[in-house]
Amino acid sequence: MTKTARQCRQLLYDNFNKVSLHLVKIRRGEGHLVARNLAASCITTPEPVDWAPEVLKNVITTSLQKKWDDEWRSGTTGEQTRSFFPLPKDAECLKNSHINHELTQVLTGHCRLNYHFHKIKKVPSSLCNCGKEETINHYLFDCNIFSEQRTSLIEACNKASIAFPPPLAAIPKDKNLWKALKWFILESRRLALRGTDQRQ
Ligand SMILES: [Zn+2]
Repeated sequence: MTKTARQCRQLLYDNFNKVSLHLVKIRRGEGHLVARNLAASCITTPEPVDWAPEVLKNVITTSLQKKWDDEWRSGTTGEQTRSFFPLPKDAECLKNSHINHELTQVLTGHCRLNYHFHKIKKVPSSLCNCGKEETINHYLFDCNIFSEQRTSLIEACNKASIAFPPPLAAIPKDKNLWKALKWFILESRRLALRGTDQRQ
């Protein structure tokens, strides 16, 4: 039995104390109604509860989602990623996105910006070339070195009626803003492998 199947079984036991599971063989073509009747005949409780498969599926899905949300929220690592995606469902946009190493740096916080590099002792200072601390928020929303490349981000905010700078969590929720973020990262080339050299 797979881990997911075990979790589903446990959820059933937790939510319905009269449930027991049985493996019922049916001949091909008899359909799920026959399977349900056979399954019902195996139930030994005095008053069998006929939970429709859709109801059970909904209960399991909701419970697993809540469990996932709780684990995600209580994580002790990945703070930067949670800033973009407060809940797992907020990361839907990643399904249709090409995730390159530059975008990954911004979403995880493990990046080539001096604030992070200084923390891991790769550079002597956490300051940006502009003189301010080079955090991700500074790079995305504030640094005057990238004012030109930031235009599309500001325009996307205006279009979505979101004040600039936007909360990080607002970006994945708006298609244009998400696209503008990726465009900015690409155009700035600050996080490209040779980005630092190109700026000097
Ligand atoms: Zn700067």
